Amino acid sequence: MEKLTVADFKKMLDTAMKNISAREEEFSKLDAVTGDGDHGTAIVTALTAVCEGAQNGTEFKQMLNDMGFNVMMKTSGSTSTLLGGFFLGMSDNAAGEELDAAGVKAMFKGGVEGVKKNTKAMPGDKTMMDSLVPAVEAICSCGSNDIKEIMDAGAKAALAGAEATVNMKANFGRARNYGEKSIGYADSGATSWACMFESFAQAL
Ligand SMILES: [Mg+2]
Repeated sequence: MEKLTVADFKKMLDTAMKNISAREEEFSKLDAVTGDGDHGTAIVTALTAVCEGAQNGTEFKQMLNDMGFNVMMKTSGSTSTLLGGFFLGMSDNAAGEELDAAGVKAMFKGGVEGVKKNTKAMPGDKTMMDSLVPAVEAICSCGSNDIKEIMDAGAKAALAGAEATVNMKANFGRARNYGEKSIGYADSGATSWACMFESFAQAL
């Protein structure tokens, strides 16, 4: 596909909502290894607000802005802040009713920049950055002009990134206190964000 429309993007969001909801319990169980075990609930609640924000969208910049603001206004916690930063950052770099390959790449690059404004976590810390950063790198460096292929590359990198967190020691936030105990389990946020990128590709 050469162009991504607003309708395509809403399909990506709906698929992410469906797949993430189906795995809510799994994400909470992973979070319980080093935290309070609420990540499944947190990501489903936050993504619901994101999707509500997109409902009346007809154009990328305003729609992404509404999505980011809605999640930040209606929900709280780190998952909300990170998703909010992601979609607000995407809004900074997107405009119009459809995007070509370069437009899609720029939009996701804006997303990762928006997240970086809201966390000091770096790849390797065993957080959602371990799936987000490689996903966006793969999207931006993909040689294809086919948006489905670009999003497939992003999904593949996100899943590999999440899988790599299994062998990492938590190095950020409260999870850091668990040290070695965190090894052997994937990070909950890296896993849910990888599910989001996998869903984005699957929807196209
Ligand atoms: Mg938690």
